[in-house]
Amino acid sequence: PDSKLPALGTTIFSQMSALAQQHQAINLSQGFPDFDGPGYLKQRLAWHVEQGANQYAPMTGVAPLREAIADKTAELYGWRPDAGTEVTVTAGATEALFAAISALVRPGDEVICFDPSYDSYAPAVQLCGGILKRIALQPPAFNVDWRQFREQLSPRTRLVIVNTPHNPSATVWQAEDLQQLWQAIAGQEIYVLSDEVYEHICFADNGHAGVLAHPQLRQRAIAVSSFGKTFHMTGWKVGYCVAPAALSAEVRKVHQYLTFAVNTPAQLALADMLRAEPEHWRQLPAFYRAKRDRFVQALSRSRLEILPCAGTYFLLADYSAVSDLDDVAFCRWLTEQVGVAAIPLSVFCADPFPHKLIRLCFAKQDDTLDAAAERLCRL
Ligand code: GLN
Repeated sequence: PDSKLPALGTTIFSQMSALAQQHQAINLSQGFPDFDGPGYLKQRLAWHVEQGANQYAPMTGVAPLREAIADKTAELYGWRPDAGTEVTVTAGATEALFAAISALVRPGDEVICFDPSYDSYAPAVQLCGGILKRIALQPPAFNVDWRQFREQLSPRTRLVIVNTPHNPSATVWQAEDLQQLWQAIAGQEIYVLSDEVYEHICFADNGHAGVLAHPQLRQRAIAVSSFGKTFHMTGWKVGYCVAPAALSAEVRKVHQYLTFAVNTPAQLALADMLRAEPEHWRQLPAFYRAKRDRFVQALSRSRLEILPCAGTYFLLADYSAVSDLDDVAFCRWLTEQVGVAAIPLSVFCADPFPHKLIRLCFAKQDDTLDAAAERLCRL
């Protein structure tokens, strides 16, 4: 058929995980833990299945989960959304992002995002007939130049997509960035889609600066998160979005016909987990900081140059001292010859990205990290 997405192939995550499996490489490419989520969460899932909670959930999500999300939001960001009208449970963050983009972007609308950018945004914008304007950020800091951002705004700008903590750069925004964003868009009908799936994996001293903590921005924003990251269960595919009632109503119109509702027993189990063990997410920064530090320490003997990691479970490594290959070829070589799979950064960018950077996932057991570091130290 005449493809609506002619340039699109299989995602880099599927490609690299398949290559890793083929060569039995240690898979630090696609972002997922190689350890299991909390036992309590699994028990609650089994319990709810046993109790017969196996039919459709309400379209917007089960009430106990929406309430628990509202409470968590209040604790983290000092503001409690209305669980009835402002919280929507989705099939992973991916669905929330797609539903939000579909609900807001009309043909010809301009959407701004920052490169490197997570790979699901662009196809969704394209399917809506939107025009994506990608602002390239430069390593190692990947800072936004707010003057350049303002220059990209036009009367056709409809949506800005932000992502903090940021995949793949592992940088985080400060409250100052949110303020800059607000000042740039105030007074115009521009919305913000804030991908905060790593909100609980943020190592900044003053915590995570999320859009929901900003009183003006949150009136224009759709904040997206995912329990896959928070509870080490990426395969459960339960996420959610928080947005003002009028915006949520638009997102729900799409969600209603994209999936209608999300896995019922998983939602109930997640609600129980949030209520019973809030320490899990409160301690997540310390849990992942220890893994990051262990891996960085182990790699200090290698010829890779490790960039600072302020959030997410990804580390960027500069391999300039090791190879002249471009990043895609290097990741293939690394998987096949060294036995460690990683993700090249250029695939997240529209412009040529000549840097020699790869992304390594450290959501792994300590033994996995040690084994991978040993191989990388032989480079
Ligand atoms: N978000 C994960 C990553 O960045 C991958 C998710 C997926 O495979 N679609 O690695």
